[in-house]
Amino acid sequence: MKHLLSPENDEVLAQLAWSRVLLAFDFDGTLAPIVADRDAARMRARTSELFIKVCSLYPCAVISGRSQSDVSARLGAAAVKYVVGNHGLEPGASLDEFEAEIAEARASLERTLAGTAGIDVEDKRYSLALHYRRSRNKRQARSTILAAVTALPVQMRVVTGKLVVNVVPERAPNKGDALLELRKAEQADTALYLGDDVTDEDVFELDQPGRLLTVRVGESRSSAAAYFLRDQNETDRLLAKLISLREKRTAA
Ligand SMILES: [Mg+2]
Repeated sequence: MKHLLSPENDEVLAQLAWSRVLLAFDFDGTLAPIVADRDAARMRARTSELFIKVCSLYPCAVISGRSQSDVSARLGAAAVKYVVGNHGLEPGASLDEFEAEIAEARASLERTLAGTAGIDVEDKRYSLALHYRRSRNKRQARSTILAAVTALPVQMRVVTGKLVVNVVPERAPNKGDALLELRKAEQADTALYLGDDVTDEDVFELDQPGRLLTVRVGESRSSAAAYFLRDQNETDRLLAKLISLREKRTAA
């Protein structure tokens, strides 16, 4: 993994800013700090200001694990061209089937997990998020959740995250599928994707040099992303850089 903001990668960003590019972002942990109360998550004022500007200069997408309506409500005044929710599946095909599968999974999981303290089942209509942030014994909570999901009658895709286990319909498109769809819809030659968590690896693993620049917030040995940013202050620095590069192009 290379540090995206180090001077030797200036050319990488300049090329991106000068090409027909789609910029795509995860939300929690990427544009907004992760907070204990997930309903309170929002962009910091500085990030929000920069993001509004970036969205006025580039076609932008937000691809989040939240439901589409939930994440849309958190984007403020930014003119985000594409907002995709539920880990890449919303909007999309087969939503009725996914909804039915998730309703069944939820009923079953609520029964199985009723006796375990500190687990919250978040129903996002087309996927579930089983949060164990409030649990005293997090390791135990996680393995209880995983066992319950494995025992479901319908096979589900499990995506673990930061103190959360996401349960997604097996055949649903993931964030990687969504990114490819959007790049095509936008007729973009290339894309940048910025994320921070396990579900973002579906994009990072696409491995399309020249057509996709993958960036992770936080350096990690196990990630497939090509580049990293150290923290969210660097997310702001990246946004500022993208703004100034494109403004230079417009002036030229
Ligand atoms: Mg995230």
